[in-house]
Amino acid sequence: MTGSATFSIGLFCGSRDGDDPGYREAAEQLGAAIARRGWTLVYGGSSIGLMATAANAALHGGGRVVGVMPKSLVQRELVHAALSELRIVETMSERKELMAHLSDAFVVLPGGIGTMDELFEVWTWHYLGAHQKRCVLINVNGFYDTLLAQVAQMSNQGFLAADAADALLVSADIGSAIDMLATAQEPQ
Ligand code: AMP
Repeated sequence: MTGSATFSIGLFCGSRDGDDPGYREAAEQLGAAIARRGWTLVYGGSSIGLMATAANAALHGGGRVVGVMPKSLVQRELVHAALSELRIVETMSERKELMAHLSDAFVVLPGGIGTMDELFEVWTWHYLGAHQKRCVLINVNGFYDTLLAQVAQMSNQGFLAADAADALLVSADIGSAIDMLATAQEPQ
C-alpha cells in the first residue's frame, strides 16, 4: 500500500472522449465501480475527456478522487474544481512520479500519446523492478488490439522478456478489470 488510508487506483486515459461512445461508458463504469469499492481514484486532475468522466462518476458515487496536475496544464486541461484533493506539481515527470507513488495499482482506458507515455512508464518501471504494482489495460471495444499486436510482435521477435509481457494484465471489460485490481489488495 502507499500509506494512504484506502486502496488507491491510478488511472491513465484520454484527455479527449474519443469517437466511440463506449469509451465514455467505460470511463463512467470504472469511476462508479472504484467508488463502490470504497477505493480512491488517482488521476491527472483534468475536467476534460475520459479523465473527467471517470472522476465525475467516482465523485458522484461518493468516492474519493485525487488529481495530480502540473502547473503548466492547469489552464490548458482545465483543472477539475471539485476534487477531494488536488496536488499541483512542477513538471510532467513529477506528475507521473507522484501518481505512481500515490497509487497501489494502475488501470488504463483508451487515450492518446499522454496515456501511452504513462502506460509505458509504469510498465517499464515494473519490469525494471522499481515497483510491483499491478497494471491493467482495459481493451474497450478492441481499442488496444493493435497495441497488443505490437506487444506480441516484440515478444515473438525476441525483444521482450516473458515476465515483462506478463506484467501487463489485459481485460475486456470493467468488471474483470475491477476483479484484477482487487486481487492486488490481497497479499502477494
Ligand atoms: P492524452 O492521452 O494524450 O489525451 O493525455 C492524457 C493525459 O496524459 C493528459 O493529462 C496529458 O497532459 C498527460 N500527459 C501527456 N504527456 C505526458 C507526460 N509526458 N507525462 C505525464 N503526463 C502526460
